[in-house]
Amino acid sequence: MTSEKKKVGKKFSISKIFGRKEQNPIRIADKNIHQWKYTTCGYCSTGCSIEVGLNEEGKAVASRGNANADVNRGKLCIKGIFEHELFEASGRGNKPLMRKAPYDAWQESDWDSTLDHMGSEIQRIQETYGKDSFAIVSTGQLLTEEFYTLGKLARGCIGSNNYDGNTTLCMASAVSGYKRSFGSDGPPGCYDDFEHTECLMAWGSNLPEQHPIIYWRLKEALEKRKFPVIVIDPRVTMFAQFADIHLAITPGTDLALMNSLMYVILDEGLEDRDYINAHTNGIEEVEACVKDYDPITASKICGISEDSIRQVARLYAKAGSAMSIWTMGINQSTHGSDGVVGINSINLITGNIGKPGGTSLSITGQCNAMGTREWSSCSGLPGYRMLEKPEQRKEIADFWGIDEEFFPKKRGLAQTDIFPAIEAGEIKGLWLVATNPMTSMPNTARIRKILEKLDFLVIQDAYADVETTQYAHMFLPAAVWAEKEGCFTNTERRYNIVRKVQEPKGDSKSDFWIFNELSKRFPNGEKIHFPETPEGAFNEMRELSKGAGRTLNISGMTHKKIEDSCGIQWPYTEEDAKRDEEAAKKTNDDLITTESGKLKVEKGVKGAQRLYTTGKFQTPDGKANLIPLPFVNNNEVPCTEFPFWMNSGRVVEHFHTRTRTGKMGNMNKYSPTPYMEMNPDAAADQNIKHGSYVRIVSRRGDAVVMVQLTQRVARNSVFIPFHFHDCVNRVCLGLLDPHSRQPAFKQGSIRIEEVDQDMAAQLNVERRTY
Ligand code: SF4
Repeated sequence: MTSEKKKVGKKFSISKIFGRKEQNPIRIADKNIHQWKYTTCGYCSTGCSIEVGLNEEGKAVASRGNANADVNRGKLCIKGIFEHELFEASGRGNKPLMRKAPYDAWQESDWDSTLDHMGSEIQRIQETYGKDSFAIVSTGQLLTEEFYTLGKLARGCIGSNNYDGNTTLCMASAVSGYKRSFGSDGPPGCYDDFEHTECLMAWGSNLPEQHPIIYWRLKEALEKRKFPVIVIDPRVTMFAQFADIHLAITPGTDLALMNSLMYVILDEGLEDRDYINAHTNGIEEVEACVKDYDPITASKICGISEDSIRQVARLYAKAGSAMSIWTMGINQSTHGSDGVVGINSINLITGNIGKPGGTSLSITGQCNAMGTREWSSCSGLPGYRMLEKPEQRKEIADFWGIDEEFFPKKRGLAQTDIFPAIEAGEIKGLWLVATNPMTSMPNTARIRKILEKLDFLVIQDAYADVETTQYAHMFLPAAVWAEKEGCFTNTERRYNIVRKVQEPKGDSKSDFWIFNELSKRFPNGEKIHFPETPEGAFNEMRELSKGAGRTLNISGMTHKKIEDSCGIQWPYTEEDAKRDEEAAKKTNDDLITTESGKLKVEKGVKGAQRLYTTGKFQTPDGKANLIPLPFVNNNEVPCTEFPFWMNSGRVVEHFHTRTRTGKMGNMNKYSPTPYMEMNPDAAADQNIKHGSYVRIVSRRGDAVVMVQLTQRVARNSVFIPFHFHDCVNRVCLGLLDPHSRQPAFKQGSIRIEEVDQDMAAQLNVERRTY
């Protein structure tokens, strides 16, 4: 550098231009962390390993990602980063509460008399109105050992068939679709598939906001090796902005697009005929069905160009391996289960199941949505067993030591059918465990009236201020997240362990303890063994998971092995464990089992990354089902009276009904207000200003929201986050999928009206006090 240039450089240095003489170094506050404790994130299904930092007084003061965990490799999203603040968040329950009627004041109680009263009320209702007149709705947030224990209590002691989980609102279509296509539930792929795929298609999934760390895994894979990313979503989501191809289809027309993609693939001979012949049934019926969905016809239904359909079909089918992911854009629809079957079928006809980078991967919702699917007995019996199969009823009855006749012979009502049954007077008592239907269910006004009809409503939750509590007769304060111990299963079938970081707050108890204690109030509770520790329950689950052909096999896992490995994917059998132990002795180290069966030296064990690698499925003849799916347009389409499509979804800083994130300043401040994304041109038509309040109205009800103008939504569409109480679920459609009974939260129509700005602002202030 010449001396002249040096002078100029000095004269115009950045610090001078901006008037700064010194750079301020970044300082990270020293929180005096005394100890880091291992646990697993309790929000979404990504399954990140977290370490919680405790100071010398044992108070949780920090969270960090675990660098050895294959899932998150040291990273966390904003929810995980602040998760330690949960322990001190407001609104926690402290003492059991009881009252005669919802309009009475709460009376504090002790656990013994509360559970005595609960047991006798359940039995009184069942003796008066029948066994199924008491219903139970649980969650995707408990630990797996708690789910197993609740299932034992519900199926083995209480005996009501009307027992389900709130996962019906998010994952039921994925479960149903997997069962119809592959004969069993269980996502066949894993995050490692991003490292191998040559094409990724995302259906109705805004991955960066819903599952930020899975998205980061995808980004990491893309930085190493470019492959096309196709996002199918009516809205220009964060994911769509990042995609190579964005198909902004008309809401609710995904099935027509799937059929058209299959039309092109089959018409142009791009299918994997050998795989179809060897491993599937039903190709003739599918070929006949998709003939009606040539790209010209489908382009008119879906509102995209025919060339886009052809291009995407060719890209996907010609890739050496291709994978599909999806979330609520598919599941929460009047034809959600069909949508999942359609995605599975595209992957089957292109031979993209069970191979690295070739899969059909449902990205699940809550931290343990998978755990409830596997072990809670909600829709059947533990370990994916079915009430409809006599040999499976007998197996479980023998294992638990009760009469098999105690079990119903087919599954009862789903959550979304339990509420109408209360309305009809068939169900008189309800126990809600860690779920908040006053915010999460469609048509909130109807749910409010329904809850008022109950003779006996019990809420079991970590938070006493969940909106549904106002209709309850009893409140059971539960421990939250890492105040207890047990496992979660994540999206890629990985068991990870939550270790207890702090004692439960006040007089709250772990859900595990509550279930065990309540079982003692029922005659069968004397016959069935309820282990005293979560590890004891885990050992029962391991035992029940054994058996030839059982994919959900966890018999090789232990709590310790799971922690040492930062999670293990199922199946991981006793034989796998023995083989790994033998090999470890030889190399004097810990091992990973790779897909090819070879072993390489690394810390921990891994389990199976993929299902159906041999092309053998869980159907009677081992072949997957290809099912024809004619598109029936049963969406509530916009009309003159209700001219806008209404869509809803998650934002990154909140989780579900905000019972946790709404209380944490560092989360809530990003989105404290119910808002609506609206297209600026549509707003100009109605003279609506950015930041003003409007009233949205549907055939079901109305809600007040603040307007955020953005080009992310089309001129005839709006988008509203689903987290807020008395908001989008007052107006959403709520029609049920015939297979999964999951509601259509998304494809409804609304109109937008003016509202008094001062009154709306007052309402907003009231909502923000939560
Ligand atoms: S991505 Fe999900 S599991 Fe990971 S830290 Fe965020 S909320 Fe937790």
